[in-house]
Amino acid sequence: MAIKTFGVIGAGQMGNGITQVAAMSGLNVIMSDIKEEFVERGLATITKILSRNVDKGKMTDEEKAAVLGRIKTSVSLKDMSSADFVVEAAVENEALKFQIFKDLDEICEPGVILATNTSSIPIGRIAAQTRRPEKVIGMHFMNPVPVMRLVEIIPGIATSEETLKITWQLAEKFGKTPAQANDYPGFIANRILLPMINEAVYCLYHNVGTREDIDTVMKLGMNHPMGPLTLADLIGLDTCLAVMETLYDGFKDSKYRPCPLLRKYVEAGWLGRKTGKGFYEYK
Ligand code: NAD
Repeated sequence: MAIKTFGVIGAGQMGNGITQVAAMSGLNVIMSDIKEEFVERGLATITKILSRNVDKGKMTDEEKAAVLGRIKTSVSLKDMSSADFVVEAAVENEALKFQIFKDLDEICEPGVILATNTSSIPIGRIAAQTRRPEKVIGMHFMNPVPVMRLVEIIPGIATSEETLKITWQLAEKFGKTPAQANDYPGFIANRILLPMINEAVYCLYHNVGTREDIDTVMKLGMNHPMGPLTLADLIGLDTCLAVMETLYDGFKDSKYRPCPLLRKYVEAGWLGRKTGKGFYEYK
């Protein structure tokens, strides 16, 4: 099936980034969320990034208008009935994603692939909520989506070769480099990244160093572009905690236990950049 209309569930930091790259690749995109203010905020973020591209001479005003012209917003999942491929990027909560996939399975045409941008929830478990498990796949974009070149693609146990091929080609159409991971907790990216971030939070919790010193050691000592606590704030501490819990539940290995300090921050609503405060403060 030729993919012309691309559906994105969730207009948060990942959803609006995915919408932007899909619209820039020439697809029509429907970006949905649960409230008008959330889709408006997502669209405002895309507009701001495109305007910056125009200012830098990377894009013309006409190209910007054409990209924005390809994006429609919605607050009803039912609008996904006209999508040829859907990627879900709602919050990292298993029950919520299960419900979205049950609903999408009813709403979307039978041939439509339903992908998830989950950071860690098993693809097979999400696929089992639908009557089309062969058409369910992980399409894990990195943050910020317009900048990062990787898309991790995760077929579940029932995912067909055809679904894998189409998803792979779509990632390439978006200008990304796909890498395949099998369906085990955290896949590849977060199985390696999140325990490192969690250990950095433990260093803060055990007062091994200040937030600045922990980040400086990893930035200058390991040549990472940003320190792990800064990166955790960018990812969102709620997402970091959810991934650690999935790793811990999935392997039952104590090395994946989330740091109590991480949990405390999330309970306080200190989720990082998106709420203005995490390990650092943001204006
Ligand atoms: P976010 O909090 O910025 O955005 C999530 C959005 O989902 C919110 O706008 C929320 O209103 C919306 N939402 C909640 N329930 C919904 C529903 N029923 N239908 C439609 N929308 C709904 O979170 P995010 O960082 O964009 O993360 C989204 C997903 O992407 C998560 O699964 C996360 O694990 C994954 N992910 C995140 C990162 C990252 O660095 N933040 C990287 C890769 C993958």
